[in-house]
Amino acid sequence: MTIKKQSEATTYVFTPPARVSIPVQGSDAQFPVHRVYCVGRNYADHVAEMGGDPKSEPPVFFSKPATALVTGGEAVRYPQATQDLHHEVELVVTLSDGGRDLSLEQAAANVYGYAVGIDFTRRDLQAVAKKHGRPWDTAKGFDQSAPISEITPAMDAPLSGDTRITLHVNGELRQEAVLGQMIWSVAEIIAQLSQLFELRAGDVIYTGTPAGVAAVDRGDTLHAEIDGLTALTFDIV
Ligand code: MN
Repeated sequence: MTIKKQSEATTYVFTPPARVSIPVQGSDAQFPVHRVYCVGRNYADHVAEMGGDPKSEPPVFFSKPATALVTGGEAVRYPQATQDLHHEVELVVTLSDGGRDLSLEQAAANVYGYAVGIDFTRRDLQAVAKKHGRPWDTAKGFDQSAPISEITPAMDAPLSGDTRITLHVNGELRQEAVLGQMIWSVAEIIAQLSQLFELRAGDVIYTGTPAGVAAVDRGDTLHAEIDGLTALTFDIV
């Protein structure tokens, strides 16, 4: 039975979990997370390797629970129910403001900062979901599926089309691209997403991965970098 006293702080039937938050470079303050959105198919070479045509479709959006985020370089436990866990290194955008039906200018002005993250994917479950036209939740939205670096505020993050994004696994280069290879820009992604959802301060958007996705396993060390941002290094256990 839920017990709620009037005119006092809410009483819960158990202690609510702490709000998910992300460290910010050069600050003691944490970025409080609202929702986590993701873009599929945003680099032409990755669309091609997955068997699609990069120019034929609008961006594919999906989401993960905020609790999928992993911060501080904490180790990731190899998930249940897969034999094919894939890495996807991605630029991550965080929002300081939101709204619906944003213009490109409004979208750009809503960016708080940037980070590098991994969109872990249970590729075997995704393949079954795609084959049968089912949702991607079990392939994408599982526990610890979204490791993320600390956030660099946009004013301190000199990103450009030439900015390199890389992923090394056990010291071996697996993914490498420049941000200019993204099909949809950060502002375009935010503007398009705002036509589907009312965006809020605290929203986190994974912006898609370049080619080179592949499996990882227990014992692997991942090192993700975007020039000018704090790198992300963690182990899978
Ligand atoms: Mn992805």
